[in-house]
Amino acid sequence: MKKYNFSPGPAILPASVLEEAAQAVRDFNGTGLSLLEISHRSAAFTAVIEEAEASVRALLQLNDDYAVLFLGGGASSQFFMTAMNLLNEDETACYADTGTWASKAIKEAKLFGKVEVIASSKDKNYTYIPRGWEVPAYAKYLHITSNNTIYGTQYHWWPESAAPIVADMSSDIFSRPLDGKKFGLIYAGAQKNLGPSGVTLVVVKKDILGKVNRVLPSMLNYDTHIGEHSLYNTPPVFPIYVSMLTLRWIKGNGGLEGMEVLNRRKAELLYDEIDANPCFEGATAKEDRSLMNVTFLAKTPEWEAAFATAAKDAGCVEIKGHRSVGGFRASIYNAMPVSGVQALVDVMRDFAQKNG
Ligand code: PMP
Repeated sequence: MKKYNFSPGPAILPASVLEEAAQAVRDFNGTGLSLLEISHRSAAFTAVIEEAEASVRALLQLNDDYAVLFLGGGASSQFFMTAMNLLNEDETACYADTGTWASKAIKEAKLFGKVEVIASSKDKNYTYIPRGWEVPAYAKYLHITSNNTIYGTQYHWWPESAAPIVADMSSDIFSRPLDGKKFGLIYAGAQKNLGPSGVTLVVVKKDILGKVNRVLPSMLNYDTHIGEHSLYNTPPVFPIYVSMLTLRWIKGNGGLEGMEVLNRRKAELLYDEIDANPCFEGATAKEDRSLMNVTFLAKTPEWEAAFATAAKDAGCVEIKGHRSVGGFRASIYNAMPVSGVQALVDVMRDFAQKNG
């Protein structure tokens, strides 16, 4: 049976990307070598990382003020690396707390300087994006989490800030048009919209760096990686290759405009069903609904258990909600086809007919 993978990450990737990656593992570009055994300093891999960087630059409209890096350590390492590289001990960084990942970033930043949480939706278990807050003039930077993977909320606007904005875009990067120049630093773990786990994309405006007075270990200093074009040490070769293929796929499918049209269509299809179906209800404020992670609750515990089984039987897998929210979460990243969302909607309708 055809399976649709609604996992929050590692997540679904385009079928053509998986095919090409599988071939490259066996024989990379007719070299007679596997991609997994080539040197990261070979001409063949240089071409890969250069194409990946060029695609990121083109899609995010970046200019030479920005560096594009492919690093290890996951998005979680960026929680501390950002603060370590940008914030002196006596300076203040401002954070918006919109859920678990934002809270983790806050915790790590406190190791390096003063942290002020200037907006939070903790009062309602992070079911909305707080509005109407201002960034104080003394802020060294503002940190936001553009899409909250666990709760299913997403910024559909960007805050005004004189200080550079640092954004964790792990779960919605490349899902919609974005002018990267609005941000001081963007980071994203690859394993949702970009590739397999193991590489983290960092886009950074170079002139915000070099201003902290602490000693930085080489590997944790962005300037090291900028100087060596992400090749200071052995980078995650395979995840970077798959990311390059996914970026090629995005560009071949209408770029970020194309992704947004597709993502809106899928999200509308699913949210319309959630709102119309007597067995379910949405888990977040409507105006802040994520186009990537669609969270919803069954109206009775019996329905929750029964629907989990019905969805699985229909090939819609990995839709269990995060333990801190409960219910269901369908992650419908770029690579999820409309047919996958339609399959889930069909099970929901069928379920309502039998139970509602
Ligand atoms: N930020 C967000 C928004 C996430 O969704 C995740 C992972 N799901 C992380 C950070 C952590 O990423 P990693 O596992 O790559 O450290």
